[in-house]
Amino acid sequence: MGLRKPEEYIQAIRHRKKAEIYVLGEQVEDVTKHPFLKPTVRAYAVTYEAAWDPALRKLAVAYSPYINEEVNRFNHIHQSREDLEAKVKLLRALSHKVGACVQRCVGWDAINALHIVTHMIDKKKGSDYHKRFIEFLKYVQKNDIALAGAMTDVKGVRSLRPHQQPNPDAYVRVVEVRDDGIVVRGAKMSITGVVTSEEIIVMPTRAMTEKDEAYAISFAVPLDTEGIKIIVGRQVNDCRRFEENEIDSLPGAFNHEAMIIFDDVFVPWERVFMFKEWEFAYPLVEIFSSYHRHAYGGCKSGLADIIIGAAYNLAKQMGIADKHHIREKLVEMVFLTEAMYAASIAASWRGRKMGSGCYWVDPMFSNVAKQLVTRFPYEIARLSHDIAGGVLGTAPSAKDFMHPKLKPLLEKYFQCLPDYPAEHRLRMVRLLENISLGVMFLIESLHGAGSPAAQRIMMGRLYDFEKAEKIAKYLARIEKELPEEIRGKPEPWRSDIEE
Ligand SMILES: Cc1cc2nc3c(=O)[nH]c(=O)nc-3n(C[C@H](O)[C@H](O)[C@H](O)COP(=O)(O)OP(=O)(O)OC[C@H]3O[C@@H](n4cnc5c(N)ncnc54)[C@H](O)[C@@H]3O)c2cc1C
Repeated sequence: MGLRKPEEYIQAIRHRKKAEIYVLGEQVEDVTKHPFLKPTVRAYAVTYEAAWDPALRKLAVAYSPYINEEVNRFNHIHQSREDLEAKVKLLRALSHKVGACVQRCVGWDAINALHIVTHMIDKKKGSDYHKRFIEFLKYVQKNDIALAGAMTDVKGVRSLRPHQQPNPDAYVRVVEVRDDGIVVRGAKMSITGVVTSEEIIVMPTRAMTEKDEAYAISFAVPLDTEGIKIIVGRQVNDCRRFEENEIDSLPGAFNHEAMIIFDDVFVPWERVFMFKEWEFAYPLVEIFSSYHRHAYGGCKSGLADIIIGAAYNLAKQMGIADKHHIREKLVEMVFLTEAMYAASIAASWRGRKMGSGCYWVDPMFSNVAKQLVTRFPYEIARLSHDIAGGVLGTAPSAKDFMHPKLKPLLEKYFQCLPDYPAEHRLRMVRLLENISLGVMFLIESLHGAGSPAAQRIMMGRLYDFEKAEKIAKYLARIEKELPEEIRGKPEPWRSDIEE
């Protein structure tokens, strides 16, 4: 089949066997027609459209050695550092087209992480997970399948391990082993883009001990597999989607997260990529998380560009764009944006080839990128709100603007500089409000790909404090020599994943 057109993707999710999806307490018949989900289908479809757009093609399409064909980059296994850089650039460029999360990078990061880890397990245990995984990958690439990545379990009591939980299903686990496969139970939380996907890739969410082995599983299942129930979560301003008006609900810019319940779901062996391999849960989490944190420097800098552009335009409309403090705020927003992007680009160029042949990002730089993302979007949003003024939280609705009696009054009183129609101010205010206060720019920046503490744990683990101490001891003349293992090696880091 090869590269799909966006309409082929939309047809595929429209015609699939009925998946059990709930929105606001009601089961959804057709995700492509439901007003709550339509904007998220549109956002997703842009990733397919990009492959056919001459301006985006170079970033959006890659050559796959697994099927000897071009594939959509969202299903590509990174073959080089250039591929890793292209990922970050693609995410920034697509944010500009969508104005939302394109929802496809979690599945992408999952296949790259599994490519590496299934190979690692086989090397140590003589198993055949990698072969199974490659067969699945070929199916995904040949059919240009939309993937969701589900790592985050509901987790119950945070301080307890999976096997210690009062609710034994607080982490997804195996409840039955059959000749032809396994039966799994549990739930995954906050999963991006799942109802607009076709397959869900499930991974463990934390390091495991031997006692947790039933929880150390990874597999892929189609969305409409019996026993799967999906409950779509709410987002800020989400009921505006029902208004379907271009100004208040935005033309295409929404995504969704959902809870997936695995109510005793059967998974055939050929779709199981990790079974009770508890020692490999940690490498999978670290490799996947580093990939996913790397993504954030791309997509969030793309959303920040929209916020900067909207704030700049509003400043122009208000006649304040040339004022010193406004310029300073805009430049500060640029600095914060480019710092997030730069860290992800650096993580790409420090990437390395793993045993499976797949390139992995530099974990230190990708964790730094995500740590910046947990903070900078909040500051970028604050600065843009400062520039936009209080109207950001108090502007009238588009319906008022279209009201025959109110329209001339609002055109007179909502306008600033006469060069700009009042409606343009409303459009910009709404765009800024929807993006800068939305889940995807704030809460996702904070918690997506792991809460801030998760990156700090990783950075603390990677940085070699002993080495740094030796440098200090040498310069304080406590030691006479700078030890051999430090001289000429500027970065005192180590890696805990070797292959
Ligand atoms: C918009 C959005 C999109 C997302 N998309 C996806 C997705 O597509 N796929 C996916 O798998 N996940 C996704 N996630 C989930 C994301 O990875 C998690 O939110 C994140 O890992 C944090 O987990 P949590 O939400 O359960 O937070 P919690 O675990 O409830 O964390 C809350 C606080 O508790 C602290 N804490 C937690 N455990 C401990 C502990 N043992 N000791 C000390 N402190 C602790 C944390 O540091 C944090 O400060 C998404 C999240 C968001 C918000």
